[in-house]
Amino acid sequence: MICNFCELKCDLSQSSLCGMYQERDGVVVESRPDCWSTVRMTLPESIPMFHCWPRRKLMEIGGFRCNADCSYCINARVMGMTQTEVSVMQLSPQRLIEIAEKTGCSGLHFGINEVTVNLLSALELARLAHAKGWIVGASSNGYMTEAAAELMAQNFDYMNISLKSLSSEYYRRVVGLPDAGIVKRNIRYLAQRLHLEVTTPIVQTENDHEIIEAARFLAGVDPDLPWHIFRLLPEYKMADQALPDVFELCRQTEQARAILPFTYFSNFIGSPMDNTLCPDCGELLIRRLCSKSCGDIMTEYRLQEDHTCPRCGRRIPMLGQPCLD
Ligand code: SF4
Ligand code: SF4
Repeated sequence: MICNFCELKCDLSQSSLCGMYQERDGVVVESRPDCWSTVRMTLPESIPMFHCWPRRKLMEIGGFRCNADCSYCINARVMGMTQTEVSVMQLSPQRLIEIAEKTGCSGLHFGINEVTVNLLSALELARLAHAKGWIVGASSNGYMTEAAAELMAQNFDYMNISLKSLSSEYYRRVVGLPDAGIVKRNIRYLAQRLHLEVTTPIVQTENDHEIIEAARFLAGVDPDLPWHIFRLLPEYKMADQALPDVFELCRQTEQARAILPFTYFSNFIGSPMDNTLCPDCGELLIRRLCSKSCGDIMTEYRLQEDHTCPRCGRRIPMLGQPCLD
């Protein structure tokens, strides 16, 4: 039986590349349902999701394993966990919702590993969270099948897809996946179905030359798509790689903003490129402070309730209202 969750389409009678699905009685089921490596509080700004329920407390839930094998993965330990790894927690969906509620969260975010390899457990949690009126979203490498993308579109309010490169050669060599076109296809599809933001982790000398071309591609999908150029601090097989040049990437972010106005560059303390400006009149609309890695917080919010610029009335993409308490 073929697994139809991601485009690697494993024949489960032979093997499961991620190790997370198996065939049982003619149905594809999860090998380790409701097993998680991470349960912690986060904010949309840290995901990063800059145009989505600013400052709302979310419970970030991470599984283990992945369908990719990025040479720089910062969570490689979790990606390589064996089935008997002791630090995996089994928690019922009801118990997880209870924990989230007790910690003051009103939303779930699936991150850390690739949500596609835990999708059935994630969907059950999404169902319970939506029944409480919460929001639900996920980060993903975007290598899911069209059928899985459809399930995500039906059950998640927002997603952040990692567009690691425009080139299949890069995907094969650095990401361990064969075809960049799959990710581009899913970005086009998901941009029409839910609130989408895109992140591109920059590996110095590997994909930093693609920034303007990537901005053009994303502007062709949606000229108001929020895009995060992410200062990657590579680990795993690329731990010795030079870190991205912050000044050069700030310069390129400025250029990209002329093509795709909601382009950001963060993941370093004091980033000057993580505020939202009105593309029409230049007004500062949302101020953020990057105080640590992946640590953006929103410090000022000036959009009107209908998500327009208070100065010129330009509509700004935004899902939900900020939590200002
Ligand atoms: S989700 Fe896992 S089992 Fe399914 S096709 Fe992808 S790698 Fe194979
Ligand atoms: S897709 Fe993400 S979690 Fe998976 S190997 Fe790559 S960086 Fe790690």
